[in-house]
Amino acid sequence: MAIRQVREIGDEILTKQCKKVKKISLRTKILIGDMLDTMYDKNGVGLAAPQVGVLKQIVVIDVGEGPIVLINPEILETSGEQTGEEGCLSVPGKWGLVKRPNHVKVRAFNENMELFEMEGEGLLARAFCHEIDHLSGQLYVNKTEDGLHDVTYEEEPEYTEDAE
Ligand code: ZN
Repeated sequence: MAIRQVREIGDEILTKQCKKVKKISLRTKILIGDMLDTMYDKNGVGLAAPQVGVLKQIVVIDVGEGPIVLINPEILETSGEQTGEEGCLSVPGKWGLVKRPNHVKVRAFNENMELFEMEGEGLLARAFCHEIDHLSGQLYVNKTEDGLHDVTYEEEPEYTEDAE
């Protein structure tokens, strides 16, 4: 397993549509392991494959309840609303206020290509939205209500890939 370089805003790869995963090859397994390693190394709570330069529909998330791997994820239902600070490992040192649904139901494949559904509220719902957006080349910076601002130590973000 290895830690991969995280692509930053301005890198074209972050704006591209990712391809669906058709089968789990050894290469894909290594990628997923590396994505988890990279996320934990950066104290992140989520990472999408294009952030490490791979245009595949794979997301890893850990909001403190253990790792979640989502392959070819789809948002099935959303409800409610939450507005909070969001950050991204690809946009270092910045935050922005983003409105997201408070409850999100997703369907995805796991590492064994078994289909499953999962529901998330609050932070997990925000993570689902933020990370799945990456797979269609969308960054949260285009969804902020008041633009981006610099991270300061007095503030606590609602959701940030970089938990430091
Ligand atoms: Zn992000």
